[in-house]
Amino acid sequence: MSLVIHGENPETIIRIAGAARRFFPDSPAQAVCLAPPGDEELRRLGGAGVETVHVLPENLTSQGPAVVVAALAMAVAKLGASTILLSATKYGREIGPRLAQRLGGSYATECIHVESVGEGLLVKRLVLGGAYQASLQLNARPYVIGVQAVADSAGGGAGIPRLERLDVDVDAPKIELLEVVKPEASHVDLERAEFIVGVGRGFKRREDLSMAEELARILGAELGCSRPVSGDLKWMSEDRHIGLSGKRVRPKTYLALGISGQIQHLVGIRDSKLIIAVNTDPNAPIMAESDYAVVGDIYKIVPPLIERLREKLGRR
Ligand SMILES: Cc1cc2nc3c(=O)[nH]c(=O)nc-3n(C[C@H](O)[C@H](O)[C@H](O)COP(=O)(O)OP(=O)(O)OC[C@H]3O[C@@H](n4cnc5c(N)ncnc54)[C@H](O)[C@@H]3O)c2cc1C
Repeated sequence: MSLVIHGENPETIIRIAGAARRFFPDSPAQAVCLAPPGDEELRRLGGAGVETVHVLPENLTSQGPAVVVAALAMAVAKLGASTILLSATKYGREIGPRLAQRLGGSYATECIHVESVGEGLLVKRLVLGGAYQASLQLNARPYVIGVQAVADSAGGGAGIPRLERLDVDVDAPKIELLEVVKPEASHVDLERAEFIVGVGRGFKRREDLSMAEELARILGAELGCSRPVSGDLKWMSEDRHIGLSGKRVRPKTYLALGISGQIQHLVGIRDSKLIIAVNTDPNAPIMAESDYAVVGDIYKIVPPLIERLREKLGRR
């Protein structure tokens, strides 16, 4: 098997490489990057089993996804890849289907398991918001697969990968990108946070979030939220929304305040080591998923909790 991995940045590629190593321990991987990785990233790519890092010409992304896909298709052909692993992120979902269509191959995303079976590839992917797993047999080569790669990369690789420029000759884009307006972001890195206080619609007013902010500050935690809190109510920035359509987090502790725990939210927190939920409804789905389920009103529980923590931790 000739395996190529690609992602929007070196950090994502390192994670995909970890997944690649678990799925195909005997197949060396080659990475295709949009920009040269730094020395530390290169070392970690080597640790994750990548042998060669090919760097595409600069500024491809600014020319839009069609140009990136055209360049990737040429890279895949040059490298003779039979399997291309991408991230199951927005970027991967935008690039993956186009790449598979262009190469005449197969595509599947949200894959949690991949293995070679006979002439094809068997993948398991999450469907219906993560409630079920579907098994698919991909038969048309090359196989383009979006993998869920949130866990630490499996180590075991050694050495620094070779760094090579990959020259590809792509046509000018048919669509010209005029402007990119970045949404207001808080620059929070929820995926790396060790303690997250998650906020849901149990909060009645925007001002009440100060309660959660204060609790998070004392605990040294980051604030996250359910989708309605950022998407519908616009009380928090989009980059704090956790779940199927948001961030997948894996903190040591996730404290869910007034979150019901619909499957679309649970998908994003299931790698947390410890889940604590506070909810007035003992039958809310999050309660069954929590290590500690506190049946109660956040408005009655959080303020005295803040006071107790202030006393205990000596933090004002
Ligand atoms: C395609 C799709 C993708 C989606 N992606 C995501 C996603 O990525 N992330 C996500 O979060 N959602 C996502 N959703 C939405 C998801 O289905 C739920 O609607 C959402 O997670 C519910 O948010 P919530 O728990 O904050 O609100 P609710 O479901 O309204 O729950 C509020 C909870 O607060 C409790 N409560 C009320 N008052 C108090 C109080 N005073 N004290 C304590 N508890 C209280 C209630 O008992 C209830 O359980 C998606 C939906 C779709 C269709």
